[in-house]
Amino acid sequence: MSRHLSVDVAIIGGGLVGSSTALALRGMGFSVALLDKGFCGAQASGVNYGGVRRQGRPVEQLPLSQRAHAVWPRLKALIGIDGEFVRSGHLKLARDEADMASLETYAETTAEHELDLELIGHNGLRERFGWIGDGVVGASFCPGDGHANPRLVSTGFAAAARRAGVEVLENTAVEDVTRDGDSFALEAAGNLSLRARFVINSAGAWAGPFAESFGEPVPLSRIYPSMVVTEPMEPVMSVNIGMTGRGIYARQVERGNVVVGGERALPLGDVDFSRPRGEGALSIMNRAAALFPGLRHAQAIRFWSGTEGAMPDENPVIGPSQTTPGLFHAFGFTGAGFQIAPGVGEVLAELIRDGETQTPIAAFSIGRFGNPASARTDQGSNAGQNQEPPHIGEPRP
Ligand SMILES: Cc1cc2nc3c(=O)[nH]c(=O)nc-3n(C[C@H](O)[C@H](O)[C@H](O)COP(=O)(O)OP(=O)(O)OC[C@H]3O[C@@H](n4cnc5c(N)ncnc54)[C@H](O)[C@@H]3O)c2cc1C
Repeated sequence: MSRHLSVDVAIIGGGLVGSSTALALRGMGFSVALLDKGFCGAQASGVNYGGVRRQGRPVEQLPLSQRAHAVWPRLKALIGIDGEFVRSGHLKLARDEADMASLETYAETTAEHELDLELIGHNGLRERFGWIGDGVVGASFCPGDGHANPRLVSTGFAAAARRAGVEVLENTAVEDVTRDGDSFALEAAGNLSLRARFVINSAGAWAGPFAESFGEPVPLSRIYPSMVVTEPMEPVMSVNIGMTGRGIYARQVERGNVVVGGERALPLGDVDFSRPRGEGALSIMNRAAALFPGLRHAQAIRFWSGTEGAMPDENPVIGPSQTTPGLFHAFGFTGAGFQIAPGVGEVLAELIRDGETQTPIAAFSIGRFGNPASARTDQGSNAGQNQEPPHIGEPRP
C-alpha cells in the first residue's frame, strides 16, 4: 500500500544533526518529516566516543561550536534528559616540547573565541592531575568542555522531535529526491512518497550521492574510529583526555567504565560496516595503561567502531545547495560532529526560516569544492558510491 505525506521540510538522516534540526524546526512551527534508513541515532551519532569538546577544533568551527556549547547544559529542558552530559573539562596532553608549542600556538590563535584555555607545565600537571603517568611534558586545559553519553543524547533528540510533532520515519530509506516545480518529490522505502518545500541532506557518511545527484559532487570518504571500554573502575581520571598526534583519548563515566579511543577499524566488504582490529584495541589499551597507571590492570569488556563521513579539509559541509533552491546540506563532520550537532540544527532551522544565520558558516560551503554543475531537476538518485578514504588526520575526539 502506498502512502503519501506533504510537509514543509523533509530531513534525510536521523543522526544527531538531522534530529536536532528537526526539533529546532518544529519549535519554529514547521511541519517536518525525519527519515532514517535504519533507526535514528544508530550510526555515528549513537556509537561515538562522547567527547563534547571545542578545544582542538579548526578555528573556523569555533563560533558554531560555541553555539552548540550553549545548548549542552540545557539538554534536560530541551529533550527531557541530560544525556549524562558532564562539564568535566578537556585536558589535551603534550608528549614533547613540539606538542607543547603547538598547544601554545592554538591557545594564541583561538584567544578571541573565549575557550578559556589554560596552559599547564609539567609540575602543574603533576600537582593537579597526579593520576597521569610519565611521558607527558604539559597540557592545555579547556574547563568548559566535557563529555556525554551518545546513545542517550542522539536517540533523545529524535524522541523529543517525535513528541514535538515531527513525523519520525525509521527503517524508511530515502531512495530518490527530485526538484519538481517549487518543491521536492521524495520516494522512500515502504512505498512512501513525500512532497516538501525544503530538503535537508544530513545522511552522514551516505550524504555524498544525494549532493552529487543535484550537481554537487563532494570528496566525502568514510572513516571508522574504533573504541574500547573497560569494566567499571575506581575513579581513575576526572577530565576528558585528548592528545595530539598518534595518541589516545579517554574519559571515565560516572559508573566507573573508562572509554578509550585512538585507532581506526577496517571496512568490511560492504563499506557501511567495519570491524575493529584486535591489535588496534590492544594498542589503545597499552597506550592508555602507559599514560594512566590506574588502567594497568583494567579489563576491556567491549570494543566497537562506527562509520563516519570525512572531508579532506576536516571541515563539514553545512549550508544551502549552490545549485538547488530549498536544498540544504549538513554532513562530513570528520570525527567531530557530536559536540557541534545541536548548534548545526539551530543554524539550519534559521537558514530555512530566515534565509540567513548570524553564525558564520561560509567556511563550510559546498561551493569550496569547485564550480557546481547545473542542477538536475528531472531526477536524482542515491545510487553512487563514496570515494576511497584518503588518510585524514589522526584520531582526535
Ligand atoms: C566511533 C566514533 C567516535 C566519535 N567520537 C566523537 C566525539 O567524541 N566527539 C565528536 O564531536 N564527534 C565524534 N564522532 C563523530 C560524530 O559521531 C559524527 O560526526 C556525528 O555523529 C555525525 O552526525 P550525523 O547526524 O551527521 O551522522 P549519522 O549519525 O551517521 O547520521 C546519519 C543518518 O543518516 C541515515 N541515512 C543514510 N542514508 C539514508 C537514506 N538513504 N535515507 C534515510 N536515512 C539515511 C543513517 O542511517 C544515519 O542514521 C565520532 C564518530 C565515530 C564513528
